[in-house]
Amino acid sequence: MKRPFPLTAQARPVARSTARMAGWTLAAVLLLGCVWLATAQQGAPPNNAEIHTLHVQGNVSMLIGAGGNIAVQTGKDGVLLVDTGLEQNADKVLAEVKKLSTGMIRNIINTHVHADHTGGNAKISAAGSEIVGGNFAGQVGGSSSALIIAHENVLNRMSAPTGKESPVPSGGWPSDTFFTNQKNIFFNGEAIEIIHIPSAHTDGDSIVFFRRSDVIVAGDIFVTTSYPIVDLARGGSIQGVIDGLNRIIGLAIPAEKQEGGTYVIPGHGRLCDQADVVEYRDMTTIIRDRVQDMIKKGMTLEQVKAAKPTRDYDPIYGATTGFWTTDMFVEAVYKSLNFKK
Ligand SMILES: [Zn+2]
Ligand SMILES: [Zn+2]
Repeated sequence: MKRPFPLTAQARPVARSTARMAGWTLAAVLLLGCVWLATAQQGAPPNNAEIHTLHVQGNVSMLIGAGGNIAVQTGKDGVLLVDTGLEQNADKVLAEVKKLSTGMIRNIINTHVHADHTGGNAKISAAGSEIVGGNFAGQVGGSSSALIIAHENVLNRMSAPTGKESPVPSGGWPSDTFFTNQKNIFFNGEAIEIIHIPSAHTDGDSIVFFRRSDVIVAGDIFVTTSYPIVDLARGGSIQGVIDGLNRIIGLAIPAEKQEGGTYVIPGHGRLCDQADVVEYRDMTTIIRDRVQDMIKKGMTLEQVKAAKPTRDYDPIYGATTGFWTTDMFVEAVYKSLNFKK
């Protein structure tokens, strides 16, 4: 597949609308990779993914095509990844990372539990090595794997699966979890904030803010390829998604009168800036309000669907087929608003 978006930050402003159009081609491919809702109807997708690398800004690059988008931060301390793509693409991800840096993979951060973001955890962390300081260095003999950092709900979901899911082997589990609102690390000369957003896309979402590079990794709280995806079964809610989008908007600073400033890597789709997230947040908020009004009027889910509260946005975000259709989105909004009563 040809790369359907601009290659450099410089090329991006002129090509925005083209990129948006072409993004739909990419979207179709990326959505095929999002297996978490589709496990019942498919086996593993064919291993023909092409992975593209885009330098975003500062020390951060973006890998596209492995499942969910992957962020790679490189520097003198080694390599840090945010998410690892689908399991079957792990070798390709490792090959792309090697092109960016010969350093050891030290840290992996997971934005959430879904397999298109964590599937490569086991293989990629095994290829790396945790930094062990001081007196402990001798004790582990250098045989450890890269640290996998995530909110504790990610570990809970992986290690206590319901009867419907196959268990995730322990090699892919987070090895360093946190239960607070935020975890900070310092790596490659850069402060990195890992910010938990409660009950959004799932109940274990984190956004990752590279402060020096000025790049935010949104995970699936923000995707450019569909309406917001709310995994109700794994603790998601529409209000949490809106809260997460607002948090990203609050952290991001736009360049004056032009695109750029803080860049935002979505869970799926093309590279964005603050204005893109504002637009998406507004759309999400408007649809939430419409559905909320309909609920107040006592409308049933079927009546709400029939009233088409998303109609004016459907040409951009709507879908009647695939893993996240407009009907599924409206249903998720309806149920998560009704749930809070
Ligand atoms: Zn995803
Ligand atoms: Zn997801």
